[in-house]
Amino acid sequence: MKIAVFNTYQYDKEYLNRFNTGHELSFFNARLDLQTVNLSKGFDCICIFVNDRVDAEVLIELAKNGIKLIVLRCAGFNNVDIEKAKELGIVVLRVPTYSPEAVAEHAMALILTLDRKTHKAYNRVREGNFSLEKLMGFNLHQRKVAVIGTGHIGQAFCRILKGFGCQIGAYDLFPSEEMEAIGVKYGTLEDTLCDADIVSLHCPLTDDTFHMINKETLQLFSDGAMLINTSRGALIDTAAVIGALKNGRLGYLGIDVYEQESNLFFNDHSENVIVDDMITRLISFPNVLITSHQGFFTKEAMEQIATVTFQNVDAFEKQMPLVNRVGV
Ligand code: NAD
Repeated sequence: MKIAVFNTYQYDKEYLNRFNTGHELSFFNARLDLQTVNLSKGFDCICIFVNDRVDAEVLIELAKNGIKLIVLRCAGFNNVDIEKAKELGIVVLRVPTYSPEAVAEHAMALILTLDRKTHKAYNRVREGNFSLEKLMGFNLHQRKVAVIGTGHIGQAFCRILKGFGCQIGAYDLFPSEEMEAIGVKYGTLEDTLCDADIVSLHCPLTDDTFHMINKETLQLFSDGAMLINTSRGALIDTAAVIGALKNGRLGYLGIDVYEQESNLFFNDHSENVIVDDMITRLISFPNVLITSHQGFFTKEAMEQIATVTFQNVDAFEKQMPLVNRVGV
């Protein structure tokens, strides 16, 4: 098939070329949106990532350009209007589980860095400063951790927490018996957030989960709690979180995703004036750690993403069952 691959960086090209099963790939640096959609002319399929915008308007143009298939190089599909795609007869396939451990381990990296302040120690020691002042952390052993969403990533994260000896509370629409068997205690969202030392978000972004962490739910957090978000930025009302950091309700924030990330993440803005005042405010806090959507970014995950992406394209081309179809 002729595939237009949007929003690509060197590492995407490397892995997609390496695992290509014989398709004609054209790589575009541009993100897909209404301005760039015409690049899809002459292709059968588009391949996209988390910040490509595939709303109804873009889908209408894609259909006019003859696109029959959209393959996502990711698990989340909140950036695609699935109903509209269905109406237009465009099939959407994703990579549902490429490496849950990659994201779960990154969530733990954020926790450990915020807690033990290794990022600060690294800089201090390089400047000959061996002082321990203000580097004190806390033990994770016996801490209460709230896991919101116990799907593939949430479960991998619970298994890591178990190794650290944490007490694990969880909220999910569908509690997992396997997690219950290892000691995870399910409750309502409110009960789970209440008196947790650390809250980590692992549910998808949907109409129900949009801004699930807001002014009201933040009231339930223990004073000085840590909030971790490696899922999707819009699970958090950023303005409310900034308020909670200012008044001390939140003691730490670790985010790999940000509601307005599409204008910033994945690119070098070091020579630009950042006009997003919320992210600059967040960067200014000493107890906030931001990474730019790199939870997925391991060799194992990239291999799996490329492999499954081409399995998806091959299955569509050969009219085989579409096991990774979204919105059926
Ligand atoms: P999954 O589908 O396996 O699990 C999601 C879980 O959330 C399910 O158990 C589901 O029942 C639960 N859930 C759905 N709606 C809910 C609600 N309203 N309240 C509570 N729980 C709810 O997905 P996954 O593979 O574990 O991925 C989770 C999310 O992680 C993805 O949707 C994506 O947004 C994000 N993600 C981020 C990265 C990254 O690089 N940072 C990479 C991959 C995925």
